[in-house]
Amino acid sequence: MKVLIIDDSPDALQVAKARLAKEQLSVVCADGGKAGLEAARRENPDLILLDVDMPEMCGFDVCRALKSDPDLCMIPVLFLSGSAAPEDKVQGLDLGAIDYVAKPFDAFELRARVRAALRTKHLQDLLIEHAHIDPLTGLPNRRALNERLQCEWARVERHGGQMSFIMADIDHFKTVNDRFGHQVGDRLLQEISQVIAGQCRKTDIPSRLGGDEFAILVPDEKAENAAHLAERCRRRAEMACVVAKNGAAQTTVSFGIADSRGVDSPEALIARADEALYRAKGSGRNRLDIVIDPQLATPAAGAVAPTVCLSAENQPLAT
Ligand code: GH3
Ligand code: MG
Repeated sequence: MKVLIIDDSPDALQVAKARLAKEQLSVVCADGGKAGLEAARRENPDLILLDVDMPEMCGFDVCRALKSDPDLCMIPVLFLSGSAAPEDKVQGLDLGAIDYVAKPFDAFELRARVRAALRTKHLQDLLIEHAHIDPLTGLPNRRALNERLQCEWARVERHGGQMSFIMADIDHFKTVNDRFGHQVGDRLLQEISQVIAGQCRKTDIPSRLGGDEFAILVPDEKAENAAHLAERCRRRAEMACVVAKNGAAQTTVSFGIADSRGVDSPEALIARADEALYRAKGSGRNRLDIVIDPQLATPAAGAVAPTVCLSAENQPLAT
């Protein structure tokens, strides 16, 4: 794990670093509050040891800045202060620090407090990870997807470009459960989630929304390109199979695809993909339906297509 020490005194930095040498940690030092904030952003440490009395920006101000930044607020802060005054300890802890140690400190006590803070950080990381993963399939869950969608949306708004959203729902999955039982249904869900994850690039974000519904966030791509990914998933999902006592459980998947062009919120993007999925279900299942904004669609043979329905073979069905 990585510890960042922020202090304006080179001697104090050296002492703290030497005291932690036996802990098998990666230790990074920053000279003063401003450099410390930059280092926190750059290094993403697991713990910050923070001096209080520093020129330009005192430790309390650095702590305030850390705790008000969504990217940095989860890094625990341990104040390492020249003041043992109770009011300073109270202020430091009330600002959100995990601990407060007064200088001069006992080396063994500091190391024990650092270990304790890192144990808490490790548990916090595990909790965050568990809160973002679907336990059955191991895919990111709806919460994780929503967070990534907000980030991606902010990036598109800032830098331009587009992103696509694919919604997928297994066809007649109730029948699979009814015929083969819930456990086989679970295994088929796992197979299909691996099919979907296996077709994605590193930058794509596949997820299980819940039940038999999946989604893929596709950064930087137009819906027409995301449709190729969906079509690969559709074809492979047809081949996914779980062998059960009473036969082979197999199914198909329908897809709805939309992109961010002409859409004014992440929620509206999801709604468009959902409408497309609904149409894919309604027009026979095991197919894709892609929404293209009427203003952006290239008129084919003089007609502007608000939606393009694709057959199982990815051929346009309707314009
Ligand atoms: P459609 O083609 O219209 O989607 O039909 P469907 O039968 O798939 O209907 P729907 O998507 O509404 O139903 C999803 C079913 O998925 C309902 C529920 O029995 C089943 N399901 C939801 N979560 C789980 C799960 O974790 N494991 C299993 N085995 N089944 C689940
Ligand atoms: Mg379904």
